[in-house]
Amino acid sequence: PLTVEIDDLVVRHPAATTGTSAGASTRAALDGVSLTLTPGRRVAIVGPSGAGKSTLLAALMRLVEPESGSIRVNGVDVRDLDGDDVRTLMTGLTQDPYIFRASLKDNLRLAGPEASEEELERAVREARLDGWVKRTGWDAELGEDGRTVSGGQLQRLALARALLYDPPVLLLDEPAEALDEETADRLMGDLLDVTRDRTTLLVTHRLKGLESVDEVVVLEEGRVIQRGRHDELVSVP
Ligand code: ADP
Ligand code: ADP
Repeated sequence: PLTVEIDDLVVRHPAATTGTSAGASTRAALDGVSLTLTPGRRVAIVGPSGAGKSTLLAALMRLVEPESGSIRVNGVDVRDLDGDDVRTLMTGLTQDPYIFRASLKDNLRLAGPEASEEELERAVREARLDGWVKRTGWDAELGEDGRTVSGGQLQRLALARALLYDPPVLLLDEPAEALDEETADRLMGDLLDVTRDRTTLLVTHRLKGLESVDEVVVLEEGRVIQRGRHDELVSVP
């Protein structure tokens, strides 16, 4: 079990070098954000474009250096952890998963850790990909000249890969962004179902479909403006 505590985090990106506003102070991309991820709890970060969602993920992955505040994993500051270690702790989905021009099975194998047949089967079941595997077969070729793969299936494939790592914290970064409404709703429903007992941080700009998450944190201009369960929030961004 693993707890991630984000405490009063401030991140300021270097000022842009273009434009005419020389000397203008840049607003902090994250301006005092605190957040705790505990085992088996799903937290969703919601907010419009520019709110600081990607910056928060980047800070978690140690891709940007906070100006102040801290991120601790089981009490240890991430600055004292190896970057690779941090990334192993947190695996997840991004907006655009990649596929190899290879078979379905190789797409799971190449991207993941050593996995037994049983582990592969468990991951595709959990990711709701088993129907597709059954229909097309493990050896179905994916990629340019191969079968077309729908965006929803691609995300499920990415989820199956992520699950092979059994990550202590699952990061879901706008996983439904590139999908049409109906597919997005279906994928989000499945993702929230799969992640029920996992420590999960979901980043999204849509509040829709988050009824079942444990805490919704609404970010705006780098600050938390609301937090609570979906039905406790007073307004929809
Ligand atoms: P979101 O993911 O919610 O859209 P971001 O974290 O991308 O928000 O952006 C938060 C703020 O930080 C915005 O004002 C954005 O313009 C700024 N920002 C993000 N990335 C950079 C960067 N690499 N350099 C400078 N400013 C950035
Ligand atoms: P999309 O995410 O683009 O809507 P699908 O609907 O094809 O993609 O796949 C979603 C998942 O639902 C599949 O991975 C599969 O497990 C299941 N599924 C969808 N259609 C069928 C079907 N006709 N038979 C069995 N399983 C299906």
